[in-house]
Amino acid sequence: MSSTLTSELIAFVVYFLYASFFEWAFHKYLFHSNKFIKATFRAHNNVHHLRYKYSPSSYECREGRAKEHIAMDWFALPLFVGFHLPFQIAIQYFTGIPSVWGGVAAVTTYYFVYEYFHYAMHVPKRRGFENFFYFKFAKEHHRIHHKHFLKNLNVFFPLADLCLGTFISAKASREEDARIAAERATSQPVQREKVAAG
Ligand SMILES: [Zn+2]
Ligand SMILES: [Zn+2]
Repeated sequence: MSSTLTSELIAFVVYFLYASFFEWAFHKYLFHSNKFIKATFRAHNNVHHLRYKYSPSSYECREGRAKEHIAMDWFALPLFVGFHLPFQIAIQYFTGIPSVWGGVAAVTTYYFVYEYFHYAMHVPKRRGFENFFYFKFAKEHHRIHHKHFLKNLNVFFPLADLCLGTFISAKASREEDARIAAERATSQPVQREKVAAG
């Protein structure tokens, strides 16, 4: 294998790992915060999350329901590639390591896997891969995000979630729900007593 091809393949892997952190930051600061761009916040936080909730009947788009507000706008891919390209060219220029094509391929691949996985999670269709362990894991990982908005910010590759402390497993999520339910159950009689006494 030529050294150029090897460099581009290594660049692909490195940029793919990096993409998990880019997705994490994008999701947190542009999808769940209106500080920077209001349109992305509205489309994701106010529409996608309102339309698709944690309960399976809401999370999955069943027959007859409009399959809307799942994918990003068509110009998202050129924007992501165009945003990264100057940095990737600069990195190749200053390091002398052939890596631009590996970088462009990684950003593009990450985007398509993200979009297709996310669509398939919300629109099940008995595709062969929907029974694979990894898809089932990612689907549940993202379902939990539809309840805990600032957890599980990665859709299919939760490297950044693990590194940045926002990963919550299905088991931990169930335990958290049970704890909240128990707290509510114990605080309600106290509140009722207060109301009765008042
Ligand atoms: Zn979603
Ligand atoms: Zn979200």
